[in-house]
Amino acid sequence: MKKIAIYGKGGIGKSTTTSNISAAMASMGFTVMQIGCDPKADSTRNLMGKKIPTVLDTLRVNGDATLEELVALSNTNVLCVEAGGPVPGVGCAGRGIITAFEKLEELNAYEIYKPDIVLYDVLGDVVCGGFAMPIRGGYADEVYIVTSGEMMSLYAASNISYAVKNFEKRGYASLKGLILNSKNIENERMLVDKAADEIGIPVVYQIPRSHYVQDAEIDFKTVIEVFPESDMSEHYKNLAKLLLEDVK
Ligand code: ADP
Ligand code: SF4
Ligand code: MG
Repeated sequence: MKKIAIYGKGGIGKSTTTSNISAAMASMGFTVMQIGCDPKADSTRNLMGKKIPTVLDTLRVNGDATLEELVALSNTNVLCVEAGGPVPGVGCAGRGIITAFEKLEELNAYEIYKPDIVLYDVLGDVVCGGFAMPIRGGYADEVYIVTSGEMMSLYAASNISYAVKNFEKRGYASLKGLILNSKNIENERMLVDKAADEIGIPVVYQIPRSHYVQDAEIDFKTVIEVFPESDMSEHYKNLAKLLLEDVK
C-alpha cells in the first residue's frame, strides 16, 4: 500500500486532479481510496456525484460509525472518504483529520478494503500542526503539491515544502514534486520551474487547462468518467502512472 498526500492552496485544483487520477488508477485495475482532508468536504464530490457524509459529522451525530457509513464506492470504483471539519468557529480542523484517520484504522479499513494506493487530498493554505498531520503523523509516504504560476499558490507550495522537508529528516513523508495545474497565466511554466528549482524538487507533470473539467463538473463527475477518450483523460492517466511508480 502506497500513501500519497496531494497538497496545495484552496481552489488550485487539488480535488479535481486527485479525483481524476483516482478514477484513472481504478480504471487501470488498482484498488484506490481517496480521503478528503479539507473542511470543505467536497474532495470526492465529482466521484460520487454528490457530497457524502463526513467522518466527523457521522461521529458527531451518531456518536460512533461503521465502515459502511464512512466509505462510499464511486461508479468509477474509487473508495471515497471525507474527513470533514469541526463546527465553524469551534475546534481544530487538523484534529478532525486525525480523528478520521484513527477511526479508519480502528475499523480496520485498510485490512478490509486492501487499497493499493491511498490518496489524501489536503488543504495547504495553512500549514499548521493540524494540516501537517498527514505528513508528520507517518500517514503519507509521498507528498506532491498542486500549483499554478500564480504567486499565492507558489507561496503556499513553498510553505508546504518547508514543512515536509522539516519532517523528512525524521524519516516521514518525502517531497516528490510539483504538479503544475495550468491557469494559462503569462510565463507560467517558467515561473513554476523557477519555484521548483528554489525548493529543489522537479515539476513532475503539467496539466493543461481544459473545458472538459467544467463540462464534467456540471454533472458532478470526473473527466475520466464522462470523457474517457479525451486528451484530458490521457493527461490524468499519464499523471496517475507517474504516481503509481513502484506500486505492485
Ligand atoms: P481545490 O480542491 O484545490 O480547492 P478544486 O479541485 O475544487 O480546487 O478546483 C477549483 C475549480 O477549478 C474547479 O471547480 C474546477 O472547475 C477548476 N479546475 C481545476 N483544474 C482545472 C483544469 N485543469 N482545467 C480547467 N478547470 C480546472
Ligand atoms: Fe486551526 Fe491548524 Fe490550529 Fe488546528 S492546528 S486550530 S487547524 S490553525
Ligand atoms: Mg478541494
